[in-house]
Amino acid sequence: MTDTRPFDPDTLAVRAGTRRSEFNEHSEALYLTSSFVFGSAAEAASLFSGEEEGFVYSRFSNPTVRMFEERLAALEGAEDALATSSGMAAILASALAVLKAGDHVVCGAGVFGATVRLFSDVLGRFGIDTTYVRGAAEADWRAAITPRTRLLYCETPSNPLMELVDLEVFARLGRESGAVTVVDNCFCTPVLQRPLDHGVDLVIHSATKYLDGQGRVLGGAVLGRRTMIREAVLPVLRSAGPSLSPFNAWVLLKGLETLPLRMRAQSAAAQRLAEWLETQPGVQRVHFPGLASHPQRTLVARQQGGPGAVLSFELGATSPEEARVRAWRLIDHVRLMSITANLGDTRTTITHPASTTHGRLTPEARARAGIGEGLIRLAVGLESVDDLKADLARALAT
Ligand SMILES: *Cc1c(COP(=O)(O)O)cnc(C)c1O
Repeated sequence: MTDTRPFDPDTLAVRAGTRRSEFNEHSEALYLTSSFVFGSAAEAASLFSGEEEGFVYSRFSNPTVRMFEERLAALEGAEDALATSSGMAAILASALAVLKAGDHVVCGAGVFGATVRLFSDVLGRFGIDTTYVRGAAEADWRAAITPRTRLLYCETPSNPLMELVDLEVFARLGRESGAVTVVDNCFCTPVLQRPLDHGVDLVIHSATKYLDGQGRVLGGAVLGRRTMIREAVLPVLRSAGPSLSPFNAWVLLKGLETLPLRMRAQSAAAQRLAEWLETQPGVQRVHFPGLASHPQRTLVARQQGGPGAVLSFELGATSPEEARVRAWRLIDHVRLMSITANLGDTRTTITHPASTTHGRLTPEARARAGIGEGLIRLAVGLESVDDLKADLARALAT
């Protein structure tokens, strides 16, 4: 082993980004301050102009927030990162950093529901239009790109159907068309997947999910090359103001420390639950990257360091109405799992996407995303897998 060997993610998760004050505290300090004092008028001027590096005002930067940004950047293999107040703020910041009126976006159809509303309803009012692509076929993505396309956006695996986008192909399409590529890496986290290594331009995170891991705070981040982060994303954040609270950054720093452990444990639990669900009568289909039945097995093996901890399954039914009744009945009969739309928690959550996370999409958009009434999503936590099976078995039997 030499000095130049890079640290493993387990080490980075607990060590990267740590800064100590004059008191040499071992655990990271929480700097709850909105502003910073300057030694002189000249120092204030040079910090404000950016001539000198340092902390000015917590909308721009804060030491606790910076520690979170540096630790996450180390894990993602990113040159730089900026934290935001939520995952949606990170997506908005990345979009505003690259788009202007008249530009076009190509977006995966299976992305987070609020992302679709942001692109279509909010950015749509500012003269930006978006085309959604179902699935991962290169020809379909290529066909959607126009000379006005400035942004290619995807989530992989997608929510809630666990379809992968080939990140090598995605990055290449961006380079060929001159569009910026953005990947929402919320489901895999850098522990299982590092999109920047495949040539993608920007990664965004909802830190609210696995990075916190315990369902406590909202947060987000945009990561990528230093020039792009500093010159394109930072001006948006400084002026628009969706910065991360130092308190939330401190909670997220603690969350990152256990991220590799949690991702491995939760992925393994999801694997066992998915295999078991496939054998259950009444379950028509299970969507999970770790299953032999997943249609993109080779891509899963090439691109992801593990299956992740989110899965979805479909209940058989003869009509959409019957499917909804069956799905809601199952959800109403679990006792252990939490009925909530959140994911990435240590506690397993159960969701009916068609009426919650994707409920405000038009029926056409929902159909395009392939989200039926009989579909149920699980985000597997850290409970005993046997207890989770027993909970589902009883609910399935009703
Ligand atoms: C939750 C989520 C978001 C939005 O994050 P917030 O922190 O709730 O704003 C974006 N993408 C994915 C995949 C998510 O699950």
